[in-house]
Amino acid sequence: MTLVPRPGGGARCLVGGRRGEGSRSAFELRDGELYAEGVPLATIAERYGTPCYVYSRAALEGAWRALDAALAGVPHLLCYAMKANANLAVLDVFARLGSGFDIVSGGELARVVAAGGDPGRTVFSGVGKSAAEMRQALDAGILCFNVESAAELERLDAVARERGRVAPVSFRVNPDVDPKTHPYISTGLKESKFGIAYGDALPLYRQARAMRGIAIRGIDIHIGSQITDLAPYREAARKVLDLVDRLAGEGIRLDHVDLGGGLGIRYRDEAPLPVAEYAAMLRGLFAGRAEKLVLEPGRWLVADAGVLLTRVEYLKPGPAKHFAIVDAAMNDLLRPALYDAWHGVDPVRPRSGPGTRWEIVGPVCESADFLAHDRVLDLAPGDLLAVRAAGAYAMAMSSNYNARPRAAEVMVDGDRAHLVRRRETAAELHAAESTLPR
Ligand SMILES: *Cc1c(COP(=O)(O)O)cnc(C)c1O
Repeated sequence: MTLVPRPGGGARCLVGGRRGEGSRSAFELRDGELYAEGVPLATIAERYGTPCYVYSRAALEGAWRALDAALAGVPHLLCYAMKANANLAVLDVFARLGSGFDIVSGGELARVVAAGGDPGRTVFSGVGKSAAEMRQALDAGILCFNVESAAELERLDAVARERGRVAPVSFRVNPDVDPKTHPYISTGLKESKFGIAYGDALPLYRQARAMRGIAIRGIDIHIGSQITDLAPYREAARKVLDLVDRLAGEGIRLDHVDLGGGLGIRYRDEAPLPVAEYAAMLRGLFAGRAEKLVLEPGRWLVADAGVLLTRVEYLKPGPAKHFAIVDAAMNDLLRPALYDAWHGVDPVRPRSGPGTRWEIVGPVCESADFLAHDRVLDLAPGDLLAVRAAGAYAMAMSSNYNARPRAAEVMVDGDRAHLVRRRETAAELHAAESTLPR
C-alpha cells in the first residue's frame, strides 16, 4: 500500500475547510454535488460503500506544509501526533514530507515502521509505557522518550542498561496552565495524570544525569487539545523555557524543547488561532536560542482533511423529534457521544427544499448514538451525507460496538481514489475468539 507521487511534486495548497487563512476546502460543491478533490463523493460511496471515511491527500499535505512554512527560520521538527489518525496512508503522506511522529504505544511505533516513517524522528509520549514497549522503541532507535514520572525513568534506565543501550530522554513537565478547552482534553493542569509536577523537574534531571542508561535530550509539555487561545501556550512555553535556562545554569544542556500539540480547528464557530500568530509567538520565544523546537500537532493537521460519508437509511418523523437514521453510528464517530462534539453535516447532493429539523442518528442501541442534533436539511431515504472535520479522532476512536464492522477508508489524490483500508467483515470481528471446549 503506497501512494503514487503526484506529478509536479504536489505544490497545491489545499487546507481543508480552514476558513480565514486564504485556503480552499478539499471538499467542495461542484455542479451541485460534493467532491473530494477531483472525485465525486457519490462515486466513492458507490464504489466502496458506506459508512466510509474519505481523506484528501492535498489537504493533509497543505496543512503540514503550511505549519512547516510558518516556522521557517526556526529550527524545528514536526512530530505528527498519530493517535489522531493512524491510517498507514496518512502516515505515508506525512513521512514523504519528512515528518516526525509522536507515538503513545508500541502499536503506533509498528505503524510508523510499516508506513515507512523514520523512528529516528519519533518521540514516544504516554504515562504507561511497558518494559516491552521500551525495548521495542530502543531497538528501533527512536529520537526520544517523553518520560512522565520518576518510576518510568527508573524502569527505562534499567531496561536500557539490560539491553546495552542508552535511552534518549525528555521529561514531560506539567506547567499547571489551563488551556480553556474541554475537561476531557485538558492535560496540563496539576490535577492531571500527565507529566511531572513543575517543581519536581529539576531534581529529576539531576537524578537522570547520573543514570548510565539515560541520555538527557530535551524537555516536553502538552497542555491539551483543541486550544484556540494563544495565552496558555505562551504562559506554558515561558515556564518551560525558564526551566531550560535553570538547567543550563547547572550544566544540563538540552538539544530540543517540545511544546506538544493542541492547536484547535473550527468545527462550528470556534475562532482557531491563525497559524501565523502561533508561529510568530514561537519565533519570538526561540529567537537566539540553541535548542531545536519540536511540535506534536495532531488534530490541526488532519481534522479538515477528512469526511465521514454516510447514507440515510430511514426517515422517522416523530411527535417530538424527527430522526434521520443513517448507516454511520457512534462506533464509527464517537466524538458527538463522548464530548457532545459538533460536526458539520452536508448533503452530498443538496436539494433546494426548505428542509426539516432532523436528529441525525445511527443504528446503535444507545440514546447517545447521534452524529448531530437539530439540523435543518431537505432529506430523502438513500441520500448521502458528509460529516465534516472527520479526519481527526474519528476513525481512530472507532470500535466494533454492536458487532459493527469498521468503516472503509479511502484517500483521494487528485482525480484518483485509493482504498487505504477495506471495510471489515463480520467474520473478522470474532475471528480471535473461541467457544468453550465441547
Ligand atoms: C494527543 C496529543 C497530542 C496531539 O494533540 P492535538 O490536540 O491533536 O494536536 C500531542 N502530544 C501529546 C503528548 C498528546 O497526547
